[in-house]
Amino acid sequence: MMLKQLFDRVSSTYTYLLVSRPGGEAIIIDPVKEHLAQYLRLIEELNVKLVHAIDTHTHADHITALGDLRDAVHCTTLMGEQTQAHCVSQRLSDGERVRADGIALRAIYTPGHTDESFSFVLDADTSPAVFTGDALLIRGSGRTDFQGGDARRSWDSIVNRLFRLPDATIVYPAHDYRGVCSSSIGEEKRWNPRIAWRTEEEYARIMNSLALPYPQMMDVAVPANTACGQPDRL
Ligand code: FE
Repeated sequence: MMLKQLFDRVSSTYTYLLVSRPGGEAIIIDPVKEHLAQYLRLIEELNVKLVHAIDTHTHADHITALGDLRDAVHCTTLMGEQTQAHCVSQRLSDGERVRADGIALRAIYTPGHTDESFSFVLDADTSPAVFTGDALLIRGSGRTDFQGGDARRSWDSIVNRLFRLPDATIVYPAHDYRGVCSSSIGEEKRWNPRIAWRTEEEYARIMNSLALPYPQMMDVAVPANTACGQPDRL
């Protein structure tokens, strides 16, 4: 299997293209609408068939490419079962698997950043990985002050779900604002300043006092993303 990590400079979003083998199938996670042409070119160059496009959650900072990819290559579009995006072709429940030849992702419900956030575990023998969306970031975690966010649910998702994965599991988040591409569960347990050596109480206090600015794109991105990035189709 091959993993391509792609980056959107405007929103600091990471998009992941998982490719089974040349000539095989692929899955994309958290694609950004503006980069549709880049994705289509890449899957053509790699000679793969894109079978699934997944959003970890309803993004507030960029518009998804899910709908455009579905139109272009007839892939399925997937989100967690709590999503408001009724345009998706399949809603995943906790523990469900997403497969493309030779690749299996396990969906795990990790609410807190939003009430419909999922993470996706790649159970590979050699390098197990988890795509955490904004549930767990590198030395941070996704804000919990809108879209059904909840600091205590975020703590529970991180500590009681993601941190139960093996320490060697590579963490691939949906964003990084400092240019770091990946982490690991063991590293985040030890060094994430919001979580390591802290209690749930302390975490909730930190998250509830972040006082972050209102996201510039939110009023456009959230309605657009509940329409799979195609608001004009509503
Ligand atoms: Fe987010």
